[in-house]
Amino acid sequence: MNCERIVFYRSLLDIFRQEIQLTLNNYVTNVSAYVPNSLEAPLIIRFDLNYQQLAMAEEMKSILSEILDEPLQSVKDMREAAWVYIFNLLVEKYPESSIGLQLQQIHCVIRFSDLPLNEHFEFVPFRHPVRLSLSVMKCVLHSFGDRYQCVRQSIWYCPKKCSNNQNHILAGEHACKHNCSECNGNLSEYEHRRSTYNCRMVRVFNAKCLETPIRYGEISRNVQVKLSDELCDAEMVLGQIYVLIGTYDILNQTYVAWQFQRINE
Ligand SMILES: [Zn+2]
Repeated sequence: MNCERIVFYRSLLDIFRQEIQLTLNNYVTNVSAYVPNSLEAPLIIRFDLNYQQLAMAEEMKSILSEILDEPLQSVKDMREAAWVYIFNLLVEKYPESSIGLQLQQIHCVIRFSDLPLNEHFEFVPFRHPVRLSLSVMKCVLHSFGDRYQCVRQSIWYCPKKCSNNQNHILAGEHACKHNCSECNGNLSEYEHRRSTYNCRMVRVFNAKCLETPIRYGEISRNVQVKLSDELCDAEMVLGQIYVLIGTYDILNQTYVAWQFQRINE
């Protein structure tokens, strides 16, 4: 990512400076206390974004429109900007520190609230084309599954000891598909160092299906939704109304939640 993009997200990161600093302090404490393997520990940064607050701040307007229009690219850019930002904080606070922080260690958890439920932002699964940028849906809980674990970060090594025996930090669930960049052999994982997070699948119907149950030429279908981290802990009451904010992954036909809240009507 170029410097322009890093500067672009700088004002957003400044808002979360305190939270970032806390995450960083914890990391540095572990590193300086020689907690084993703490150098490669994940740094999880949570961004609680509120539409109304961002819309009111003049310097946030362009960032907000990027998040709304290209949420996945924004998360990627924000993560890279956070990496540079944290690196600078590290150098500023610990000038003699030789900590080599890798991008793969930075994990952004984004929560979004107050996205207006209007024609422009609403996700309507039976309307084509469906909205693929950040969207909101008032929905009815149809079913829910058990919690399960997803991989946030895992540490891999080459059994042939290539790359001076350097470890590879890989993020996400498809980390195991990577091979050694030197010998192209399969990497082995330090399984006890795998970092995971809670996930849960639920199925919902758009609440419009209840308001107008009979629609000619349209079939109401339920939508699979992926909840993660603390969103999995929401009280699950079948038939109740929830507000869902997130993005629709059309390839996996799954809605990835950035917010999931029960509302009383
Ligand atoms: Zn190798």
